[in-house]
Amino acid sequence: MKTFYAEEQKRHDPKAFLSMGAQKPNPEQPERVERLLLGARAAGSAIHRPANYGLGPIAAVHTPEYIEFLTHIFERWQRMEGASAEVIPNIHPFARNGSYPAGAAGQAGYHMADTACPISAETFDSACWSAWSAVAATEAVLSGEPAAYALCRPPGHHAFADVAGGFCFFNNSAIAAQRLRATASRVAILDVDLHHGNGTQGIFYARSDVLTVSLHADPSRFYPFFWGHADERGEGAGLGYNYNLPLPRKSGDPEFLEALDHAISRIQAFSPDALVVALGLDAFEGDPFGGLSVTTPGFSPIAEAIARLGLPTVIVQEGGYLCDALGDNLTAFLAGFAS
Ligand SMILES: [Zn+2]
Repeated sequence: MKTFYAEEQKRHDPKAFLSMGAQKPNPEQPERVERLLLGARAAGSAIHRPANYGLGPIAAVHTPEYIEFLTHIFERWQRMEGASAEVIPNIHPFARNGSYPAGAAGQAGYHMADTACPISAETFDSACWSAWSAVAATEAVLSGEPAAYALCRPPGHHAFADVAGGFCFFNNSAIAAQRLRATASRVAILDVDLHHGNGTQGIFYARSDVLTVSLHADPSRFYPFFWGHADERGEGAGLGYNYNLPLPRKSGDPEFLEALDHAISRIQAFSPDALVVALGLDAFEGDPFGGLSVTTPGFSPIAEAIARLGLPTVIVQEGGYLCDALGDNLTAFLAGFAS
């Protein structure tokens, strides 16, 4: 299986985020890439550089207002007297029924859900290359490869059509799914990240052509809190096309695999032409977020079960944070998928 990744994705280097009100080092570090590249190579995957696909595939998912915001917000922020080195908002609309402000501070609050996605000079470029890695992996699958892996960093599944959040700027999994729709009449997205894929759910919530399924730690007391509950099933034409499987905290391999069975059964019932796997590795028992207890060997049977669907599959990297086994967890997944 080919891996797609561009060096520019490492330049985004967020410094801080707020957790329970305290400023902490941002966990979405460039070093994640080094560990994941080692993990991909150990699984026998060769690394390919994606092409520059322009803004088209990104604009197929994100609003022009939001793309324009991300393009220019860093320079605009720097022009404000006394502004921080990174763009970090401190005010958000509590509901999205107000007006769109003209200034950088107001727009940052409008387009950024939380403090976990600081924007620096390199962020927009890194986010574009991350999205293009997803597009390149999708193109490989559209050209007949049974599966391809996009080493997307920064990750994407918490990004909505016009909102960044949770370390994410462009929703790479959604961009891949939308691109697959060029030939596939139905596409399923299976999100196995520790955290609910709230941005992906939001983007496709009213659509019946893309089924969104997410396994994750119960959000009642866990990020992203407001989404990921079992009663969120879609709306309008999309009602019944969103399936959330929240798991009790610290659930391990057996519980994860049992929930995965339900997810796979739902995907089979949808009979898609292609699949996107939003591959977070932070469900790992040793991940710094500590929400679930999947083991390193446990990632192989998870991948095997997904591979048995027999669908053309784009695997898109989401979360998974610095710990000794990060690369090994990717190796276990990719090797399991190919076995
Ligand atoms: Zn996550």
